[in-house]
Amino acid sequence: MPSCKEMTRLLSDSLETPLPWPKRSVMHLHLLICGTCRRYRRHLLFMHKVLAGHNHLMFLSDTAKQRIKDSLAKKTED
Ligand SMILES: [Zn+2]
Repeated sequence: MPSCKEMTRLLSDSLETPLPWPKRSVMHLHLLICGTCRRYRRHLLFMHKVLAGHNHLMFLSDTAKQRIKDSLAKKTED
């Protein structure tokens, strides 16, 4: 059974890549008995979802980025 500290690593890893079933099963077993890790997982999933929702900001075209910069520069001049 992983410790809560090890669980933070497992939970983070599980968001990046599918874990092998032995790790997945001990992780789910730990989640069944540990409210702290369930809460941590809920927060982690929430943050992951929020950040994934803003992915489009990283893929703006150069033209769009320049338009935003120009607009911000204009606002600071006012
Ligand atoms: Zn725990």
